[in-house]
Amino acid sequence: AAMRETELKRTKTVCTYCGVGCSFEMWTRGRDLLKVQPQPEAPANGISTCIKGKFGWGHINSEKRLTKPLIRANGAFREAEWDEAYALIARRFNEIKTEHGPDALAFIASSKCTNEEGYLMQKFARAVIGTNNIDNCSRYCQAPATESLWRTVGFGADTGSIADLEASELLLIVGSNTAESHPVIATRMKRAAKLRGQKHIVADLRRHEMAERADLFVQPAPGTDLIWLNAVAKYIIDNGHADMDFIGDHVERFTDYKESLASFTFEFAVERTGLSREELQRIADMIIEADTMCGVWAMGVTQHSMGADTATALCNLLVLTGNVERFGTGGYPMRGHNNVQGASDFGCMPDRFPGYDFVSDDDVRARYENAWGVTLSTNKGLDNHEMVDVVHDGKLKAMYVAGEDMAIVDANAQHVQAAFEKLDFFVVQDMFFSRTCEYADVVLPATPSVEKEGTFTNTERRIQRLYQVFPPLGDARPDWQIHTELARAMGADWHYEHPSEIMAEATALSDLMSGVTYERLAGFKSQQWPVRDDGSGHERLYNDGEFHFHDGNARFHPVQWNEPTDQLDDEYDLHLNNGRLLEHFHEGNLTDESPGIVFKIAQSFVELSPQLAEERGVKAGSTVRLISRRGAIKVSVEVTDRVQGRQLYMPMHGKKNIEAINVLTSSVTDKDTDTPAYKELAVRLEVLEVD
Ligand code: SF4
Repeated sequence: AAMRETELKRTKTVCTYCGVGCSFEMWTRGRDLLKVQPQPEAPANGISTCIKGKFGWGHINSEKRLTKPLIRANGAFREAEWDEAYALIARRFNEIKTEHGPDALAFIASSKCTNEEGYLMQKFARAVIGTNNIDNCSRYCQAPATESLWRTVGFGADTGSIADLEASELLLIVGSNTAESHPVIATRMKRAAKLRGQKHIVADLRRHEMAERADLFVQPAPGTDLIWLNAVAKYIIDNGHADMDFIGDHVERFTDYKESLASFTFEFAVERTGLSREELQRIADMIIEADTMCGVWAMGVTQHSMGADTATALCNLLVLTGNVERFGTGGYPMRGHNNVQGASDFGCMPDRFPGYDFVSDDDVRARYENAWGVTLSTNKGLDNHEMVDVVHDGKLKAMYVAGEDMAIVDANAQHVQAAFEKLDFFVVQDMFFSRTCEYADVVLPATPSVEKEGTFTNTERRIQRLYQVFPPLGDARPDWQIHTELARAMGADWHYEHPSEIMAEATALSDLMSGVTYERLAGFKSQQWPVRDDGSGHERLYNDGEFHFHDGNARFHPVQWNEPTDQLDDEYDLHLNNGRLLEHFHEGNLTDESPGIVFKIAQSFVELSPQLAEERGVKAGSTVRLISRRGAIKVSVEVTDRVQGRQLYMPMHGKKNIEAINVLTSSVTDKDTDTPAYKELAVRLEVLEVD
């Protein structure tokens, strides 16, 4: 063993952070990570990575890792053996199921876990417990984008590949801080602009790096993207620039769409968005002139009470201009977590099985009942936002959350924490003792991506394998193993020895991925779904002009505008926008453990424009309190012209000793998908210390 410790090992893995899906080799000796070595054959990134992929691995050997199951006893946690933890969970789950029925239990799968683990968690909820109460964190981010693509083109995923983004003549980037949130994709966009003259239109509240570099940067008023998107579409139709050949052959409902745009004149758009007529004209002209365009969007579009409708307005515009199926075109919601696409693909949704088959479809249910040897529920399950409300109603008694710090990442955090207090039984599975663990009855220690095998699916539907770099630390176990052992403790006949067996079961049941195998994914090889039996995948979903509807046609989906919620008034007079930083990931549970990263951003801050700072008598480093209609937090001030007027910006990453942004956000959600309207947030500012 001593010999082996000194050996250099090279293992291919996939980044655990964002949806770009960078893959690389890790060079290790014993438990030491010597370096992250990108390889030219990596399909999404080649030789590029960002700071998180290169240096964000301090969590692996962190002293704060959970290495033993914890059981709450007399108000405190004590360490326990796995068998004791499993027996307790099995007993309590069975008691609650017997007394209140299976729908009194609910499950949240992690979008950081592998596809195989997502598959097992939904199977556990459905087959072992008997409920469809299963969801994942795409509810917090791109569920509205998925909805918009379902409405218009049929599949809830990026229509093309990163290569299309690079090849396009024009990128329309709306509410996406690409350079910080999806850095390696941004690198490829910047290269296309520099080398090939690719044009960028950026619409955002904040002047971030992509805005700074854009050919045209516009700052519409918060919550008004739907208006200018519809107004530009109306202009294109009225002036005869719609792609009528494409629409005639491949698209339904053009007349409905055209009529729905009647009120979206430039005049109306100028009045409500604050953009000038010239800016609107310039957007329209650039779209008309471009032979190929991609629409890129992220949380700035989706985290609104009209998130799905705004994303739909963008999809309609892409369809209108024939920019959805050719090389260099398409719609690209940038996926946040490394495997947020995969968690939904593999069935961690309240109404869908793996491959997006409906739980309400009798034939599909029969297929799963046969394979799993159980009778399945026909009730649509709860999404994770609904779960919180149903706990408050007293009908949901137990929850099992894998790897999600719900107590601070859900909007209106106090409301969520109060729900956790009410649960009869709560299981949390995580690598660290997160804020959510404080409410648990049992905490199960899971492993990070580098301590297990499996697959992740990136933003372009690309499935890639990760190989085990290190053995699990202490008694921590991979999530797939925990699910398997817990199912066995509950009497299920589960015997998975390796994730490849789980993938084989999932692909045998789902047409969407029937040709996915571990052999075809060996090393740096990858497959983009849909993957047919012969293993062939798809770089673009619709390049034969066949859309994913029964008639093969795409459709326009008319949408109208409503006022955003949490409006400014005399008391709450500032709009607080929020999002990512390059260096950190979400609530910071992983990146806070990497000294090289924490050093760069030591504390949370709020950005104010120089004008507003002067008006309020604060300067860089001053301490202020931000107060919303729900809560208050203390942060330090950064003065910058990245924001303007009454706009503030704050990173969403909650730090250990600082209250997270979600103390402020509201429980309002997108009306169609229940995604929290994190971006609709009015606050007032109190000055605490000027220096
Ligand atoms: Fe990881 Fe995303 Fe950075 Fe790539 S761009 S290294 S996937 S965080």
